[in-house]
This record gives sequence, structure tokens and C-alpha cells, in this order.
Amino acid sequence: MTELTLINPADETVIATVPAFDAPQTDAAIARAKQAQRSWARLSPADRAAALRRFADAVDGAVEELAQLEVRNSGHPIASARWEAGHVRDVLEYYAGAPERLFGRQIPVAGGLDVTFHEPIGVVGVITPWNFPMTIASWGFAPALAAGNAVLLKPAEWTPLTSLRLAELALEAGLPEGLFQVLPGEGRVVGDRLVEHPDVRKIAFTGSTATGTAIMAKAAAQVKQVTLELGGKSANIVFADSDLEKAAATAPYGVFDNAGQDCCARSRILVERSVYERFMELLEPAVAGVRVGDPADAGTEMGPLVSRQHFEKVASYVPDDAPVAFRGTAPDGPGFWFPPTVLTPSDPNDRTVVDEIFGPVVVVLPFDDEADAIRLANASRYGLSGSVWTRDLARGIRVSRAIESGNLSVNSHSSVRYTTPFGGYKQSGIGRELGPDAPLAFTETKNVFIAVEEN
Ligand code: NAD
Repeated sequence: MTELTLINPADETVIATVPAFDAPQTDAAIARAKQAQRSWARLSPADRAAALRRFADAVDGAVEELAQLEVRNSGHPIASARWEAGHVRDVLEYYAGAPERLFGRQIPVAGGLDVTFHEPIGVVGVITPWNFPMTIASWGFAPALAAGNAVLLKPAEWTPLTSLRLAELALEAGLPEGLFQVLPGEGRVVGDRLVEHPDVRKIAFTGSTATGTAIMAKAAAQVKQVTLELGGKSANIVFADSDLEKAAATAPYGVFDNAGQDCCARSRILVERSVYERFMELLEPAVAGVRVGDPADAGTEMGPLVSRQHFEKVASYVPDDAPVAFRGTAPDGPGFWFPPTVLTPSDPNDRTVVDEIFGPVVVVLPFDDEADAIRLANASRYGLSGSVWTRDLARGIRVSRAIESGNLSVNSHSSVRYTTPFGGYKQSGIGRELGPDAPLAFTETKNVFIAVEEN
């Protein structure tokens, strides 16, 4: 493949073709990054911080442009896309504070002074999925650059446009040539080369568990560091003592946001048996009320799926005899439209209960008591996020502590704030992104002992 053909998911028109990198071009980019990284790391912390602030300013000036690109390339509703572009600016702004705060420690030892330094790793590969192209990219490149690294970003095949624009904005803001490069292309060509090239010393990967597993195995051959943000099948647990109206009104947005193409989607709703019927009565109008339609329309809450191929995968989980409780609406005609769909499978091992569908499909299952809810929530190979709805705060804390997941919310579906750590348990990943410690994940800790005894 020498070029990527990009399709607007809302109307199936071709919006652009983008040249795809091959392995030699990837090697050349790695060599440029290696060169650029050396001078970047030598800059004073204040100068690196200032450069990142200028990059944040450039993104701020391009929020609308980036948002419109994401609407056309990924089918995201414009309101969401504007939030995403603003989030990239905020992430850059937040990590612009890091170069001057990468504190080492002074450790008491006999006979001298002992200090630690957080040195940059060198060249870092950031490999991203198609579901949130620019936000997820920024979670890798912003803290990595702040810590003194060069970054090579490999965007997903279907959605490279906002990443390519971000690389231009970085140059316009004065970041050195070669320091932050975007390499569109195939995963098995460009992504694979980043993983196997010895001069790329860390891979920050977000994507499927299958690809993440393969990357980790390959990286092991060089003892290369990896951060993996992988799939999820998160539980939304609704106890009988919760504000049931609010739990039902918000449940669709906890799973159908971005048409369910969200690693944090609460795609298993677990409801205490005594309120199950009532919850379903409340959920039906909430699902019907989700506004699915033209992503360019400011009132739209849910757009299409990203591609024909992905549509076929999602549709395979809802055959004609599927246990559909009710569905929302979706436009007819061209575009990869799939209505919000609520399933009530009777078998807890059904593939709709076990697999990450990554579309607007949710299963609802009853549970008996707190212990049963925790058991069901943890009956998954994934552990990324989850929600607990209860008016009993002690229970909210107990259940949150018992769930094997990296990001829990009580009486809310929030998962991602750039100020707090994000990542998964079990097969949802390794390592954490965001929050105050993210730059440390892009450093090596060096210990230096200086003798002070007179000889
Ligand atoms: P994917 O694994 O198919 O692709 C992700 C990226 O990896 C793409 O850029 C792809 O080109 C690249 N790639 C593919 N094969 C490769 C290889 N052999 N070597 C190196 N790179 C390779 O995932 P996807 O379908 O784009 O994204 C959906 C998945 O991402 C879902 O499972 C979702 O849960 C997950 N995801 C996780 C998070 C998180 O933070 N945990 C966030 C968003 C998405």
C-alpha cells in the first residue's frame, strides 16, 4: 500500500488520500528524530517549557480546524470534536509545566551526596487507534516531549488527518525539525518497524489487546519499554438504593458516546434484581432520546461508526434473533449508521457479554447483592473502567476498591481527566498515562553518588 484512502463515515465519500510511509522512510524518520532529540534534551527546562506552551497556543488557534477535520475523517459529532481539540491544547499546556518540575531526589548515604536524575529515554514511538485520534496521541507525545524525548507518532490507517495537522502546528510553533514527526502508514509496516528498530527505546501503544500482545512480545526481544492501553468491557453497576432516574438517564451516554467506540464504554449494565424492571422502563426512553445523526450538526450526540469494515464487525453481534430489548434511532442512506442497541442475553458467557464490541451495543444483566455485582463486574479479562451507582457512599467506596479496574467513578461516568492517571488492569493494559506522573514514564532514573570524604 503506497497511500491511504480516507472515507467520510457519515456519507461514504472519499475525503483525501495520504501517502503511506514504508520501512526505509520510517528508518530515515527515526534517524532524524535521534538527531533532534539530542539538542532538545540539551535545551534548558524553561526553553522546553516555552516551546510546548507555544505548541499549545498553536493548537488553541486551530481548535475549530482540527475539530472539522475529525468530523470528516472520523464522524465524531462536532461538539465532541471541539472538546477533543481543546483537550489536546490543555494536555500540552499541562505538561509544559513538567520540564521545570522533573525533580530527582537527594538520598542520605554515607561518605557523599546521592542524587537521582530523570533522563529522557531518547526516541519514543507512539502508536494510536482510530477511535480518538488526536486526544490519545497527545497523551503520549505531550509528556514524552516534556521529558526531553523525540516522538514518532504512527496514527491509525483510517484516521491520520488530525495527527498530521498537529505535526504541522508543532513546526509552526517552532519545535525543532524532526523532533515530533507523524508517520502515516500501515501498522504491520510502520508500527512494526518502530517496535523492531533498536533506536526507538519505548513504545506507547493504544489499541486492541491482540495487537498490544504482539507488540509486547516483540519489544521483549530488545527489552524495550512499553506502555499498553488496550480494550475494555466495563461494568456500570446500578444498586437499588441509587438515584435510579439519574442512573438510567445517563447510562446511554456511558456507553454510546463516540458510537460506543470508546475503550471506557460501560458496555455491561449490571442492575440489582429488585429494581431491574423499573430500570429498564426508565432506560428505554433515555436510549430513544439519544440524538443520532449528522456529525456536523451541533445538536448531534452520536455519529456513525468509523468504517464499513467496523460496521460489519459490530453488526455481527446483533443477528436477527438477538435478544434485543429495545433500540434507538439512526439515519438511513449512505454512512455507517448503527442505532443504539440494548441486549438482554440470558447466558452470562454469551459473546455479547464477554467481547469488546466497540459499537453502540450494551448488555443488561441482573445481580442479586453486592458480592454478586462485584463477581460479575470482575468476570472479564479486561479491567479498564467502570461506574457504581448508589446513595450509600461506603458501598460506593467498597465496590470501587473491589473492582479490578484502573478507573472507577461513583454516581458518574467520568473516566478521563488529564490531571489524573488513566490505564487498565489485566488485559486492558500496562502502565498509566496522564496525571502528574506521566512524564516519568518517559524517563530513565539515573542515580549518581558523589564522594565528599577527603582522601
Ligand atoms: P488496533 O490494535 O487494530 O490498531 C492500533 C494501532 O496499532 C494502529 O495504528 C495500527 O496501525 C497499529 N498496528 C497494527 N498492527 C501493528 C503491528 N503489528 N505493529 C505495530 N503497530 C500495529 O486497534 P484499533 O482497532 O485501531 O483500535 C481499537 C482498539 O483500541 C479497541 O480495542 C479499544 O478498546 C482500544 N483502545 C484502548 C484505549 C485505552 O486507552 N485503553 C483507548 C482507545 C482505544
